[in-house]
Amino acid sequence: MYLKSIEVHGFKSFANKILFQFHNGITGIVGPNGSGKSNVADAVRWVLGEQRIKQLRGATMQDVIFSGTELRKPLGYAYVAITLDNSDHQLAIDYDEVTVARRLYRSGESEYLINGTPCRLKDVNELFYDTGIGKEGYSIIGQGQIDKILSGRPEERRELFDEAAGIVKYKRRKDASVKKLESEQQNLVRVNDILSELE
Ligand code: ATP
Repeated sequence: MYLKSIEVHGFKSFANKILFQFHNGITGIVGPNGSGKSNVADAVRWVLGEQRIKQLRGATMQDVIFSGTELRKPLGYAYVAITLDNSDHQLAIDYDEVTVARRLYRSGESEYLINGTPCRLKDVNELFYDTGIGKEGYSIIGQGQIDKILSGRPEERRELFDEAAGIVKYKRRKDASVKKLESEQQNLVRVNDILSELE
């Protein structure tokens, strides 16, 4: 699996529709300070479902929408799509190519799409569990992140190993089942209360 392309339109400094195409191998992005190099990495984080605006270097989520320049009016929405080559079927989906997209309007309305079909953020998260690609994955290493990993709490470091070992999806499913079980136990207590009142 590898990243084939990133399409951005209205995301941060990318007012025009731009398509970055990559080949299997290493690609470097170079440019003067402030030209938008980090915005490319932000676009990838964002489309993978990043909800923490601080991670995207903004104050509110609307800050990812092109805010205009002296010569250009602001845009009404931000759109990012990444296309991954999935011919090795590392992503558990029956397609050789997978495109994940996210759009956000100034009104706050937003949507996620997988191969053009609207889906939930949960579906995007689940698609990338245990691949290292998700927003919590290690495929995007930001400035200062290595230091953070080395000096972080053991539990935080453990999360990286869990992802690499491919057990995150089982942990998430276990957490969901435990929650469900707890709520069923509460229901049972309530039913027993009602029964004893009726007796
Ligand atoms: P450096 O090499 O200094 O780290 P960089 O090439 O990584 O810089 P970025 O941080 O990606 O640059 O881009 C910063 C630029 O993006 C700034 O000029 C900023 O004004 C612009 N920018 C950020 N958000 C928006 C937005 N919503 N609308 C328009 N421009 C934006």
